[in-house]
Amino acid sequence: ENAKQKRLIGLPSVTEDGATVELSANIGVPDDIKGVLENDADGIGLYRTEFLYMGRNRFPEEEEQFDAYRTVVEQMNGAPVLIRTLDVGGDKKLPYLDLPEELNPLLGFRAIRLCLEKTDMFRTQLRALLRASHYGNLKIMFPMVATLEELREAKTLVEEEKKRLTDEGHSIDERVSVGIMVETPSTAVAATSFAKEVDFFSIGTNDLVQYTLAADRTNERVSPLYQPYHPAVLQLIKNVIEASHAEGKWTGMCGEMAGEETAIPLLVGMGLDEFSMSAASILPARSLIRTFHSKDARALAERALLCGTADEVKEMVHSYPK
Ligand code: PEP
Ligand code: MG
Repeated sequence: ENAKQKRLIGLPSVTEDGATVELSANIGVPDDIKGVLENDADGIGLYRTEFLYMGRNRFPEEEEQFDAYRTVVEQMNGAPVLIRTLDVGGDKKLPYLDLPEELNPLLGFRAIRLCLEKTDMFRTQLRALLRASHYGNLKIMFPMVATLEELREAKTLVEEEKKRLTDEGHSIDERVSVGIMVETPSTAVAATSFAKEVDFFSIGTNDLVQYTLAADRTNERVSPLYQPYHPAVLQLIKNVIEASHAEGKWTGMCGEMAGEETAIPLLVGMGLDEFSMSAASILPARSLIRTFHSKDARALAERALLCGTADEVKEMVHSYPK
């Protein structure tokens, strides 16, 4: 099995009838790059930067962050690297960040919401990212964006720091891509408005599923309701992909669903451009993609979108391509 997968190294992730997708990797720390390169990923689809902030007693400084981001983009040698800005709060705490207890932390003060209030901290990260953008193909991605105002505020901070860095004599990629994760139903439903103001989307199904079904992703009691294959989730995914394409933008997915063999034919059929998953899932995903036709996948996705339940969707996919 392993030898069979190794033979896929260097080959494109392309369907039988020539539709190519990108298979990228999710990472948490720069050391993860080794596995990414070994498994021949097309890029990094999600670099979760919160690990830089954890297990210490104060915020990482600009220079330390710059070193980490630069290392990653340089090692990826021109391949795209989507770096997510700090996603803490909710269930992820930092010992030096004093946050009030919340009744519903997953609906609370987290991710971009927190960054837009703690702007000193956020600006430091943006500066480190912009400086690293000079050394490779870096793309900035904001988590948990629920409103256009949040996106606009975050983009304004990016523009302000770009100007400041340039005035200070730093080299940056002036045209660095800025995109968002689609993790809230509001953003998925209103994707057309967002698509006009971003360079790309990446769907974070881990959160999008929990918010769509109102089922806490960490609560065992409601885990049967946590349904990535619920037709409502599929509708949202399709809406996001179509809205991005209508504006000439692209959509990836970096939640767990992107690496699931059951999901891949459906997502290819819906037109997803990029799949980001654990490095170990890349070659199995490539192997699978090379076995089917995109036009069959499109027909499968169309039928799945008409299903009433997640079980019906899964049954349909499992009997695919019959
Ligand atoms: C997601 O929500 O799908 C995602 C990739 O982000 P995280 O799992 O870090 O919340
Ligand atoms: Mg998330």
